[in-house]
Amino acid sequence: MLQVADLHVRFGGIEALRGVSLRAEPGEIVAVLGRNGAGKSTLLRTISGVSRPWRGTVSWKDQRLDHLSAAAINRLGVVQVPEGRRILGELSVRDNLLLGGYGRRRGREESIRRVLDLFPVLEERLDTSGAALSGGQQQMLAIGRGLVAAPQLLMIDELSLGLAPIVVEELAHRLERLRDEGIGILLVEQEYPLALRIANRVYVIEKGRVGWAGPPSGARDVLVSSYFGRQSAARLGR
Ligand code: ATP
Repeated sequence: MLQVADLHVRFGGIEALRGVSLRAEPGEIVAVLGRNGAGKSTLLRTISGVSRPWRGTVSWKDQRLDHLSAAAINRLGVVQVPEGRRILGELSVRDNLLLGGYGRRRGREESIRRVLDLFPVLEERLDTSGAALSGGQQQMLAIGRGLVAAPQLLMIDELSLGLAPIVVEELAHRLERLRDEGIGILLVEQEYPLALRIANRVYVIEKGRVGWAGPPSGARDVLVSSYFGRQSAARLGR
């Protein structure tokens, strides 16, 4: 349903993406893994219309996205949860959620109801300011705000960043629930153990290219080599 084909993105002289192709379907979790600076955030930002490709295409249900505005892409159901959550700290939890459905005429209240079912702790804190939430709750709010936009594909940049393992585990269960409800999830992560547990398919990005793609069961050795170098991987006996 999402097709990225031969995507190249340049920033001045830096070629952040050098021919990335991938696909993601509804009802699956696709993990995009790679070291710091590999190009993962650039990939998500280009799919969501924040950055423009220099070459290549992004298509969604046979419609080209790469010339559309970020707002138009969001309205088509391709929604990004940004790295660092970017919630508005001075606004209440309720208002942050409402902002996620900005421009949606119908169904916003029902979507918020579903978010509160998924993350009951947010219901207890609806009138609290975003800034007063814990890191894990802020990530729930960021995902919740994305869900209020009624995504068919939810793209999450660094789910686990700065969060305790037990919190990440809880978030992962919620993503599995969303997947089982038919939402596609594109999960970008630097930390890979959890992503490998919940993903249906994996892409490993290395220096702006897809270095490897396949099922999570085959990804661990590739990632050890990619993150620590082939010699260290050999020393670790991988
Ligand atoms: P991280 O997890 O650290 O964000 P990443 O895999 O998401 O890493 P990107 O943020 O996509 O990597 O960056 C890929 C490359 O593109 C890096 O060399 C980065 O410095 C460069 N880059 C990204 N955005 C810009 C920009 N707006 N201007 C210039 N260079 C950029």
